[in-house]
Amino acid sequence: MAPPDPILGVSEAFKADNHELKLNLGVGAYRTEELQPYVLDVVKKADKLLLEKGENREYLPIEGLAAFNKVTADLLFGADNPVIKQQRVATVQGLSGTGSLRLAAALIERYFPRGEVLISSPTWGNHKNIFNDAKVPWSEYRYYDPKTVGLDFEGMIADIKAAPEGSFILLHGCAHNPTGIDPTPEQWEIIADVIQEKNHIPFFDIAYQGFASGSLDADAASVRMFVARGMEVIAAQSYSKNLGLYAERIGAINVVCSSPDAAARVKSQLKRIARPMYSNPPVHGARIVANIVGDAALFKEWNAEMEMMAGRIKNVRHKLFDSLSSKDKSGKDWSFVLKQIGMFSFTGLNKAQCDNMTNKWHVYMTKDGRISLAGLSLAKCEYLADAIIDSYH
Ligand code: PMP
Repeated sequence: MAPPDPILGVSEAFKADNHELKLNLGVGAYRTEELQPYVLDVVKKADKLLLEKGENREYLPIEGLAAFNKVTADLLFGADNPVIKQQRVATVQGLSGTGSLRLAAALIERYFPRGEVLISSPTWGNHKNIFNDAKVPWSEYRYYDPKTVGLDFEGMIADIKAAPEGSFILLHGCAHNPTGIDPTPEQWEIIADVIQEKNHIPFFDIAYQGFASGSLDADAASVRMFVARGMEVIAAQSYSKNLGLYAERIGAINVVCSSPDAAARVKSQLKRIARPMYSNPPVHGARIVANIVGDAALFKEWNAEMEMMAGRIKNVRHKLFDSLSSKDKSGKDWSFVLKQIGMFSFTGLNKAQCDNMTNKWHVYMTKDGRISLAGLSLAKCEYLADAIIDSYH
């Protein structure tokens, strides 16, 4: 028997609990204030238009839907970016963020025999699985400082410096999962300096573009800064969160190359890897993305809905901070909750304390102390604050 998945297993345990106050803060999926799943209005509209058009269900090419690949690279790098104009980006539609990361991992395994990936400690639980399964060696760089519940910037820089030349440095483009702690723009520049000095290759995982701050451009700033320095960059994208397409499995892998010729070759190799893995990617969600981005009114509506989702999460974050600060009499500084960004908050709770959250308070969360604020409502903040304070002390 294989063990349950540490993230998706939390939802299974939640379902089996009948307590009326139970809360599922495990999986990162957006919920409404009523804690219901949310389908974006703009997605419903795009769906209706597609149905009316009656498009066929034939296979896509291995690299995916051309219109999707165009808009996804435009959204990430900016349509005016010279790397797009010079056709230096190899873009292949992947099976959402996970599948796109897996394609890049396979590319590294095949063409960089001494390639090693550095991942942050901690990171999203699936990163290690992906590189293990692709047989790509990985090690960790310091990222989280438990003393400040903030970034261990010096440790991060030292570890990236110490990595063998030409390593792949996996970076979360925005809204770091699980910590919610991002480098500042100044820190990003220093990270880029070190990566450039060591001839490392930045490998971005950007699963929350537009969902973290509400702005597609602001959330892509880190990726664009590296690209503007003329570096070769890998970037995996996902439309699970920002467009709520979770189960449609829509995303892409982009490789920014030094020439159009190199980009064409990299794309051909990505296709060669994808063909025996899953043949070709899903069409429906790709059409949804292409149609929304390609239509000015729908695009505007999508941006407004992203802002609304990001705004709800920010409101919940503030309410949780207020509840923790007013209820806790120990003098603990809870301001880290406010400094974090994105759908998660890293509480700093250890495993035993997380067990107390679940066993006593019926709050389901991953054992690393991460809670998904997207699964929390304003109405439940006080209850959650009681649970966290009780578990801490
Ligand atoms: N990377 C990170 C950091 C994530 O948090 C997620 C979603 N939890 C993903 C990638 C990929 O998700 P998906 O495969 O649904 O796009």
